[in-house]
Amino acid sequence: MAVKLGILGLGTVGTGTVQLLQDNVGRHPLLQDIEIYRVGVRSLTKPRSVELSSEVITTDLEAIVNDPAVDIVVELMGGLEPARTLMLTAIKNGKHVITANKAVISRFGGEIFTAANQAGVYVLLEAAVGGGIPVIQPLKQSLSVNRISAIMGIVNGTTNYILTKMQTEGSEFDDVLADAQRLGYAEADPTADVDGLDAGDKIAILASLGFDGRINRDDVYCEGIRQVTKTDIAYAAKLGFVIKLLGIAQHLDEDNSQLSVRVHPTLVPHSHPLASINGVYNAILIEGEPIGQVMLFGPGAGAGATASAVSSDILNLVATLKTNTTKPNSLLACRHQHYSQITPITELITRFYARFLSKDQAGVIGRLGTCFGNYGVSLESVVQTGFQGELAEIVVVTHNVREGDFRQALTEIQAMESIDSIPSVLRVL
Ligand code: NAP
Repeated sequence: MAVKLGILGLGTVGTGTVQLLQDNVGRHPLLQDIEIYRVGVRSLTKPRSVELSSEVITTDLEAIVNDPAVDIVVELMGGLEPARTLMLTAIKNGKHVITANKAVISRFGGEIFTAANQAGVYVLLEAAVGGGIPVIQPLKQSLSVNRISAIMGIVNGTTNYILTKMQTEGSEFDDVLADAQRLGYAEADPTADVDGLDAGDKIAILASLGFDGRINRDDVYCEGIRQVTKTDIAYAAKLGFVIKLLGIAQHLDEDNSQLSVRVHPTLVPHSHPLASINGVYNAILIEGEPIGQVMLFGPGAGAGATASAVSSDILNLVATLKTNTTKPNSLLACRHQHYSQITPITELITRFYARFLSKDQAGVIGRLGTCFGNYGVSLESVVQTGFQGELAEIVVVTHNVREGDFRQALTEIQAMESIDSIPSVLRVL
């Protein structure tokens, strides 16, 4: 008997998924065993680019998740509600759930996986991070015997497109954002992307898988790219770096007791594997023992790419259901129950790039050095770069320092008579 899907949402990803499932010849043979049984939408009059009979398409999404005939609910509607409640209802009714919804999983994953474990069903989410890039199942399966020490990535295509354009064209953020919105690469309300919130959802999900503990989304430090200027991109390039918005989850110490999970624009050395990921592409670098480094690269969004990820979850579930075993497949399930403790950003040990505008030049660099020294900040490089009108511009890159100490030094420097302003402070990988 065919496995019956109830799909919630027929937008970009829903349409791509239905197209892929309908065009199944020459793909995996298990696709023949799938029936698109119901598809839930908001509007029945909207033109659709896939053919579905009027019995399949409905606006009653509750009926789909409560229909005993539905085996798998595929949630592709987005947003927090009603998506969260519909998923929980489907789980309570014993249905497996597939979702592309990073916002719901990063915030309510604890509730959803607890419910799924109790009901004995699977919740799969390959499309929630990295669009078409297989990264969730690799973390759960192929890499699962490794001790993961770091996961870092470019997980938001919009911001990578903006930063790439700023770098190649020497343009300012606002101009590139306006262009990206015209071209459809950025939303009319770009907040979730440019303020790092979308990347925060994704790194929270990756961290929970790689470091075997649930992550409280509110503990993930998120800083976006609005304050990145073409001036900093140019200085970074001169110093051998490119600026990327990175989601980073890593152990900060040898005994793995401190876990940092954060999103911020970062100066990445030109030689680093993530430095060459440009445009709307995504890449995720995973470091583990014994494997070393693995980088997964590909399209982070788009109908076809995301449909590929959703369909891989569908096939995984169909194959599992067809094997007729009563024991759950522990490589598909989410097994951890406890929450990981996240180290506050003030405890992060990292290098910094900072740009200062000073009123007079005589002795300023010396005073900066003394103040930094008082807080244990040592400088890797100091460059007096030029002038902005009457003001002299000084750029420093520090050695590794505790973020809290660095910030205290900055507060003191900001109060110095000779310092006009500190236009930018960025972390360095
Ligand atoms: P979308 O184009 O806005 O489509 C949303 C679909 O859900 C539409 O068909 C809409 O119905 C339906 N819908 C939304 N709210 C509904 C409600 N309250 N009741 C009934 N139907 C409702 O969204 P999308 O871009 O496909 O994204 C879907 C999910 O995939 C999101 O969680 C997103 O984060 C994730 N995702 C997207 C991409 C991507 O490239 N777009 C990549 C990775 C992950 P109507 O068609 O009638 O309006």
